[in-house]
Amino acid sequence: MAGSPRVYPESMEFQEQYDTLVGSDPAYEGRFIAGVWTTGIFCRPTCRAKIPKAENVEFFPTINEALHGGYRPCRLCRPMDGTKPVPPLVEKLRRAVEESADGRVSDKDLVAMGIEPSTARRRFQAYHGMTFHAYQRARRMGLALRDVKAGKPVIDVQLARGYESTSGFREAFTRIFGAPPRGARAGHCLLAQRIETPLGTMLALADEQGLRLLEFADRRGLERELAGLRRRLKCAVVPGSNAILEKTRQQLGRYFAGESLSFDLPLSPVGSDFQQRVWRELQRIPAGHTRSYAEMATKLGIPKGPRAVGRANGSNMLALVIPCHRVINADGSLCGYAGGIWRKQRLLEHERRHAP
Ligand SMILES: [Zn+2]
Repeated sequence: MAGSPRVYPESMEFQEQYDTLVGSDPAYEGRFIAGVWTTGIFCRPTCRAKIPKAENVEFFPTINEALHGGYRPCRLCRPMDGTKPVPPLVEKLRRAVEESADGRVSDKDLVAMGIEPSTARRRFQAYHGMTFHAYQRARRMGLALRDVKAGKPVIDVQLARGYESTSGFREAFTRIFGAPPRGARAGHCLLAQRIETPLGTMLALADEQGLRLLEFADRRGLERELAGLRRRLKCAVVPGSNAILEKTRQQLGRYFAGESLSFDLPLSPVGSDFQQRVWRELQRIPAGHTRSYAEMATKLGIPKGPRAVGRANGSNMLALVIPCHRVINADGSLCGYAGGIWRKQRLLEHERRHAP
């Protein structure tokens, strides 16, 4: 399927991109983004800053993914800016996000800076084609996910390496995932893994009961879902892995490779009885097929309930595994998908191509 996965250090592509970074070849401009782990900054392929060691670099296909990787834009090569000068207001907004402890800048903060919030939102969107809200969300989630990447807390490693402690990892992590209880056994927490896919970074959470959440990291409303899950299960989230998360990673690999579109995982979605019924029905839609909300409602024995079905569909926290992306409008057009309509479309194309 189209779309480029993250580039792994052992790959040929990594070597090619690293050589480009060293040689500053302008032909590669726009083809990839380089993140430097030790500084937390992402750069264009042609950046003139000091060349980082290969072991400290990772490459991303897009700016969005670099942001979700926990990186902020370099001030030297300005990877988010085109040839036009950056409006001072936009620059100020980006700085404010970097300087806030947890990547959050509220309307109140803006007013305190003498900035009118609605003007700020309009200008940011006009310049970046991305809302100021989405930018902050990417930054927060990226900071929090850095800790989840290795499947273990990396804060201590970073402090040991002399990484700035002001960079907001701990704050962002705590705000999004809750304060991990000190000395608590991992069994009492939800374990979190970050999984890279050709359609972007995913976050997977599981405990010993089963998989609780699987979502694209830039999904709208993800922080709200996480807060709800923590409240319902009365637990915090800690970076870590277990057999269920390992299986999830393997099966996602096979799914995206087109080898097997079905999942065989212990699932423990948190939701009402009605939501659970809808989610079970969703799992009966075979890969390569779609259903309308009305068809779903009829199957569930509530012919007047397509709206309720739609809501339960939207509250699914196990993307792909509970295939809510296979529900479309009665006229065949695609409708809302919190992970983005473009993803829904790519998923359906992928499944049509590889369905048995
Ligand atoms: Zn740079």
